[in-house]
Amino acid sequence: MKGMDLRTVPLRSVLSFHPIQWGGRKERSFYELGEVIMSTHTINGVTLELLQGDIVKVQADAIVNAANTWLAGGSGVDGAIHRAGGTEIMAECRKIGGCPTGSAVATTAGKLKAKYVFHAVGPIYSGSDEDEWLLKSAYQTCLALAEQHKLESMAFPSLSTGVYGYPLDLAAPVALGTIIEHIRKPTSLRRVTMVLFGDSAYRAYEQALARLLARS
Ligand code: ADP
Repeated sequence: MKGMDLRTVPLRSVLSFHPIQWGGRKERSFYELGEVIMSTHTINGVTLELLQGDIVKVQADAIVNAANTWLAGGSGVDGAIHRAGGTEIMAECRKIGGCPTGSAVATTAGKLKAKYVFHAVGPIYSGSDEDEWLLKSAYQTCLALAEQHKLESMAFPSLSTGVYGYPLDLAAPVALGTIIEHIRKPTSLRRVTMVLFGDSAYRAYEQALARLLARS
C-alpha cells in the first residue's frame, strides 16, 4: 500500500456546484444536481473516483467517448455525448475521419463542460487474447492524450461494455489496472473518474478496485 492513501467514501447525497464537505475534505462538486453514488481513493496524490451516473453531466478537462473506428456516431455514450455536445464535435470527427481500435483521438468538447472529448475505440469483444491489450491500449492512449494536453482531470465511461459486449467483470480490472498503473507514475492528472452507468457496472468496478488495491 506504499504511496497510497486509501479512502472509500460511499456517498448518497444531493450535490450542487457549491463547495461541499466530502469525507472531511472541502471540495467542489463536479456533477450536476442529483443523487450521487461514488467512492474516492487517493493513489500517489491522484484521486481515483468511481461515480455512478451519466458522463455528460460530469465536469472534467476531458471526457472520454466510447467511439467506433469511423467516429461516425452511434448509441450509448457516443449518442449521449454528441447530443449534449452539439454538432461541432461531429464536424471535427468527420475531419479526422477515423481511429483504429485500441487508440483514441481528441476533439473539441463543444457545449460540454470540458476542454476536450477523447474518442476512444475499444475492441468488440471476441473472447480472444487480443481483447485485453486492445482495451488497455484504448485507455492508455487517452491517458497519454491527457498528459500531452497537461490536463488535471478526466472522466472515462466503461469502454466496450455496452454494444461491444465486453463482460463488465473482465473489463473493469483492465480499465482500473491501466489507470492505476498510469497514475502511480508522475502525471499532470489530479483526478480520474470512472463514470458507471447503472448499478451492475458500478458494482463490478467497485469489486475490481477492491481486489486490485488489496493486491498492491
Ligand atoms: P461500446 O460500444 O464501447 O460498448 P457503449 O456506449 O455501447 O460503448 O457502452 C459503453 C458503456 O457505457 C456501457 O457500460 C454503457 O452502459 C455505458 N453508458 C451508456 N451511456 C452512458 C452515459 N451517458 N454515461 C456513462 N456511461 C454510459
